Amino acid sequence: MVAMPSKHLRITVIGAGVIGLSCAYELAEAGHEVTVIADHGPGDTVSALAGALWFPYHAAGTEQVVERSLRRFVELAALGDTSADTATDDFTDDVPPVQMRTGVLHERLDPPDRSWVAPVVEVLGDDAVQPVDGGVRATLPMIMTSRYLAWLMDSCRMNGVAFQWRTVASLEELTGTTDAAVIAGGLRGGDLLGGDDAVAPVRGQLMLFANGDGGEDGPLLTDWVVDSDDPAHMTYVFPREDEIVVGGTSEPGSWDEAPDQATAEAILARAEALVPELTELPIIGHGAGLRPARETVRIEHVDGYDLPVIAAYGHGGAGVTLSWGTAERVVELVGEL
Ligand SMILES: Cc1cc2nc3c(=O)[nH]c(=O)nc-3n(C[C@H](O)[C@H](O)[C@H](O)COP(=O)(O)OP(=O)(O)OC[C@H]3O[C@@H](n4cnc5c(N)ncnc54)[C@H](O)[C@@H]3O)c2cc1C
Repeated sequence: MVAMPSKHLRITVIGAGVIGLSCAYELAEAGHEVTVIADHGPGDTVSALAGALWFPYHAAGTEQVVERSLRRFVELAALGDTSADTATDDFTDDVPPVQMRTGVLHERLDPPDRSWVAPVVEVLGDDAVQPVDGGVRATLPMIMTSRYLAWLMDSCRMNGVAFQWRTVASLEELTGTTDAAVIAGGLRGGDLLGGDDAVAPVRGQLMLFANGDGGEDGPLLTDWVVDSDDPAHMTYVFPREDEIVVGGTSEPGSWDEAPDQATAEAILARAEALVPELTELPIIGHGAGLRPARETVRIEHVDGYDLPVIAAYGHGGAGVTLSWGTAERVVELVGEL
């Protein structure tokens, strides 16, 4: 949690993906009057497509944001852990759809990139990350994204956040209605600022399997596996509760949001080689989406407008991972107004 600011402002957050909702929640918690405006509801954003494992994939330069987010997700996972006494009134009564899950990250680079280990050890201690043959075993938050976004939106509403479902065509139309705007527009984040050449899509395709029950319905998978440096394409298997997210691809510059059959077959072959149990489980869906990639994630004041503007976009393949740290930083930036 961040400290309560002395000044309470009317803040408009543009965007209802994981970044917009996290910022809205955190700003409302800090005592501000928050309105979210978005032309796509949470379930219809790229955020809903994310796996999502907490992992700072291609998130250089965001160390503090990474660690803050990890801390918050670990707290949320503890809220759902009924064995721990962690009752709180902050969120809805529903259990947050976040769980600590163990898995293996395959390492192909020499030397391997272990820059992500430092924040994990800082938050979870040495035992959370252990080198194993060919990689690293780690215990990290798994966020069941579609349920999580619904839960986060409920939590926002309980904190008094208002929602409007429409397009913001220009920042000028907000003048007089709000004291400040936070732009959490993902891939379109730069549009309201006259364009941002540093933003570009990185397409990702994935498929969904039904998870088993350990009996007649097939094996029940719980552990995740990631092979992000597979030269063919990144490969990952993220078991949620009822379903398993299996990916993926990383295709810079592609604007194609339709799943492609040949790509699905290639994902399937790589994933089944990693996790042979998948052959016993049914495929229940396919998806593709565009990661809002930017050279660096943008979280800063933007000058030159009639009202104070804070940019919070360009989170690439790590928007869920970076969401709470981004929201905490946005509250700090609002506090500086
Ligand atoms: C296949 C795939 C797998 C992924 N897996 C992971 C993972 O495991 N872990 C992880 O951390 N990340 C993952 N990601 C990345 C993650 O999904 C993104 O980084 C994140 O969703 C970006 O969130 P966002 O809120 O910035 O944008 P979005 O979710 O795109 O939301 C943007 C919002 O802004 C609104 N908007 C924009 N402009 C306007 C406007 N002018 N007026 C009104 N509304 C506007 C939209 O309607 C929408 O509500 C994955 C991405 C993909 C594609």
